[in-house]
Amino acid sequence: MTIDLVPVPCSACQSSQVRTLDFVRLSPIGITSTLVRCRSCGLVYVSPRPTREAEQALYAKAYYETADQEVWDGPRLELFRRLLAAMERRQPHGELLDVGCGKGHFLKIAGDRGWGVTGIEPSHAAGNHARQAFGLRVLEGEAATVELPPNYFNVIVAWNVIDQLYDPAPALERIYTWLRPGGWLGLRLSNVEFHWRLHRFWPIVRRLWPKAVQYREPTVFHLTMFSPATIIALLRRVGWQRVMVRNSPLDPYVEDLVQPLGRTRAARLQRGLYGAAQCAWACSLGRWVVGPSLLIWARKPKDAKR
Ligand SMILES: [Zn+2]
Repeated sequence: MTIDLVPVPCSACQSSQVRTLDFVRLSPIGITSTLVRCRSCGLVYVSPRPTREAEQALYAKAYYETADQEVWDGPRLELFRRLLAAMERRQPHGELLDVGCGKGHFLKIAGDRGWGVTGIEPSHAAGNHARQAFGLRVLEGEAATVELPPNYFNVIVAWNVIDQLYDPAPALERIYTWLRPGGWLGLRLSNVEFHWRLHRFWPIVRRLWPKAVQYREPTVFHLTMFSPATIIALLRRVGWQRVMVRNSPLDPYVEDLVQPLGRTRAARLQRGLYGAAQCAWACSLGRWVVGPSLLIWARKPKDAKR
């Protein structure tokens, strides 16, 4: 099957002036395309890419139809509990919206702790699971299409979602309006600073460890690849204040690592990577956020007018 690829402008600044970086494999849909850097604002993204409709169909097939239930019930819940603990340090209770809530696991553990919970999910099958298995309120659609009341939620989270949206900037604009003044936004994103370096370094790994040839490069490239600097710039432009970017705790189950190393060693490697990234962060007094995944917190100003 051939998939038509179309060039897209930068979501953050609409410029089409780009510098080509390299071919990369787009996760999770598996097609190869070009990673580019916007010459105007520095945002890194994939262009050309499948049309919006084709991309959504490929994503649904790659992600939801092959999702391993055991992974969702086990290792990922551990990650969600850590994210929930980080969230409750900022806001201990209230109304929570999970954008791209998948099968509802994060909302379930938050709801069990007394949060009022709502989800948005584009996949009919995943949303149905959240409704039927956990009795959750989940709206079918994306941030760009669903209707929610303005200034309602105390916290809105989007775990590994914004960098996979076709056009992230307008989605962040809408999310901003749903949050109460003084409310918190929590995002988890792949860090381009890590994955781009690993992509450049991978040929050396293959020379040193010939067995690596049989495994996939363990990088993650989504439609948009934020760095700490580009996500801070975009959130501030939308209106958020007190934007904080840290290394995120890592998902103990990453298929590209589990395949060659097995579950135990893959989880140990993830813990080691997170520890090393945290050391770099502490030694640089918070300047280097170089781990595989970013955790971002941003606050809507208390005197916000919209
Ligand atoms: Zn740009």
